[in-house]
Amino acid sequence: MEITEINLINDQVENQEGLSGSEKLTMMQALYDRIEAIKEPAVLARILYNYGAALYYNGNTERAYQMALDAYKMADEHDLDDIKMKVCNLLGSINSGMSRHALGLDYYHQALQLAIARGNTALKGSLINNIAILYSLMKMYDRARAYFLESQELSQKDYNYFNYFMTTHNLLDLALEQNEKDRVVFHYEEAKEVYTLKKDLHRYKGTWHLIEAKYYRAIGDYDAALEKLEETMNAFLVDDDGNGISEAHLEKAKNYLGKGDFEAACAVCVTVAEESREKGNYELERESLKLYLTIQKQLLSDQVLKDPDRMAIRLIELDDLLLKNLFEVSVYQIEENLEVELRRESRERSDRLIENMRFIYEISKELSSEQDYHALIKLIIEKLKSFVSFDALVIGLYDPERALIYDRVAYHNDKIENSFEVSVENKSSLAAWVIRHNRDIYTGRNSHLAIDDFEPVQMNFPGMKIPYETVYYAPLVVEQSIIGVFSLQKYEVNGLDSYQIEMLRAIASYVAIAINNALKTQKMQLLNEELANQSRRDGLSGLLNRRALNDDLMHLVSIGKEDALSLATIMCDIDYFKEFNDYYGHVEGDDVIRQVSEVLMHSAEDMTPYVYRYGGDEFLMLFIGKDEEAVHSVGINILNGVKQRNIQHLEKGIEGMVTVSIGIAFFDALIDEDDVLKGADTALYASKRKGRNRVRAIHF
Ligand code: GH3
Ligand code: MG
Repeated sequence: MEITEINLINDQVENQEGLSGSEKLTMMQALYDRIEAIKEPAVLARILYNYGAALYYNGNTERAYQMALDAYKMADEHDLDDIKMKVCNLLGSINSGMSRHALGLDYYHQALQLAIARGNTALKGSLINNIAILYSLMKMYDRARAYFLESQELSQKDYNYFNYFMTTHNLLDLALEQNEKDRVVFHYEEAKEVYTLKKDLHRYKGTWHLIEAKYYRAIGDYDAALEKLEETMNAFLVDDDGNGISEAHLEKAKNYLGKGDFEAACAVCVTVAEESREKGNYELERESLKLYLTIQKQLLSDQVLKDPDRMAIRLIELDDLLLKNLFEVSVYQIEENLEVELRRESRERSDRLIENMRFIYEISKELSSEQDYHALIKLIIEKLKSFVSFDALVIGLYDPERALIYDRVAYHNDKIENSFEVSVENKSSLAAWVIRHNRDIYTGRNSHLAIDDFEPVQMNFPGMKIPYETVYYAPLVVEQSIIGVFSLQKYEVNGLDSYQIEMLRAIASYVAIAINNALKTQKMQLLNEELANQSRRDGLSGLLNRRALNDDLMHLVSIGKEDALSLATIMCDIDYFKEFNDYYGHVEGDDVIRQVSEVLMHSAEDMTPYVYRYGGDEFLMLFIGKDEEAVHSVGINILNGVKQRNIQHLEKGIEGMVTVSIGIAFFDALIDEDDVLKGADTALYASKRKGRNRVRAIHF
């Protein structure tokens, strides 16, 4: 079997929530059977770990423990921290289940240290949660609650809704165990809110119904609780979640007890005790046995209880006390280290905050001094890269009038590319969503994202795979109006922590201001160019004006001298235009000027940009370094072009038509500006004198 194939199976087992526990077990069993052929320690350790985890979740605790220990040894020997971290977490769970609390705590702490070192906040949150579970098993309720709350807060900060949901469930459990009804209600509301809002949590339907059942038991509605427990069982059966089913069973017993149905309650306890013994879950077995005895005690009055039973119950109470004392001693020892750990962490946290503030200060300073839009985009990318790792960055501008996101720049694979425009109404674009709702959005699992008014791309293109799992999108807002959208994306799942997201939020607002300034500068430049252009143009004809001619002529003459390029001019004048005006009026006359100008522009097209209205009905063209024949044919084209316009001039026009006279001057020797204009004039005069409506060329 290929290594890539093995890795793929490992990936699937680790990441796919869609697979049931027994499917995962079958897949890992098959891999484990071929383990002989595999040499790479990393691959081997991963198989052992995943197999161990699958065994554990399928209730084969003893064998799971063996696998996990083997995986631990291999990961430890070969410094495979990533696997070691996960194995430690698994060993923590296995040991806790086997009532080896101190050992479990120790493994959890090893995992926690690795998670902190590797910046894996998601695992960190769930480990703090697991540690809290241990405290609650050891009846150290205050500590347990403090840790659960910390885990809950951490997962909220990291937008890790799964951890948040699970921790909230545990807080509810704890409140129930301590008989704190108000707190049960409070945590129930918390869980309900997140479960309602985050649709990807709906995969944990079983857990949700279990929470509901516990809430109903707390408020004394046992029938509602039992109903919810039926739904819980059904969901857990579908998920193949053995531990969940046992827990739901025990919950049932507690409700039967509440209702006064002692017989049913006892029967359930016996079943759960047997089931959990088989699976090696001694904790659950203890709990069900204790519940059984409690019921027995309630069922029979102290007098009726037989001596051995009474003594057994007392012995359990004493054992519990002894256990509690033992736990406290071992926890005390472990906590010595923990204090140090937590303090070091808070120091690291404040160091990081200071570093982040410094970065914000620098980026705001540098961005605000860059006025060129494209240089600014490059600067933003470069600066962000120095602060956070990412796989793609997108910046788009928003035009409210066209309801479009345009000028989208996408940076990925170390390249900046322009991307297509997107309508703000597009339901598959997160950028469009962010603009519609004017709020930022972060998700650590894009493929699971479920929000109102948004259809993931896969919904429209089922085969399409979302490359970026971690995405952050923010609207770019300046003075309360949205000017664009900013996004940062990573392939990795849960790729940003709360610090980074808060930073991105702040950076996005600086990016908005900087982009707005750059756009303003760009607009001003365009406006200035337009203004300058306008003062060079003639209003009526749209051609360049006399002022422009003076500037350009000086420039062209000096270039002509420097590079020894020949100059030529075409001067053109409308024939008998005075009479035209007198006969047809000025408005019609203006139209003739416009038409002749069009002909001139058209004829000059590829030859020269230098076409001027010289004054009144006179026009001039300048040519530099052009072939004489080509210039000559421009003259002919103008002459014919005007004729083809077929403008009547019945008063005095040649053949009743508007015509032009054209004089071409070629300058062979080096001359200055005045000579050019004089020459042009002379050539035109010659054309007029010869009878108008013709082209005359003169060499100077
Ligand atoms: P020639 O064939 O000798 O050039 O005869 P002409 O009538 O064109 O003579 P001239 O160049 O002296 O007349 C120019 C006329 O152009 C005078 C004026 O009425 C007219 N003109 C100048 N500027 C404008 C303008 O902006 N609009 C209009 N409608 N007429 C103009
Ligand atoms: Mg004229």
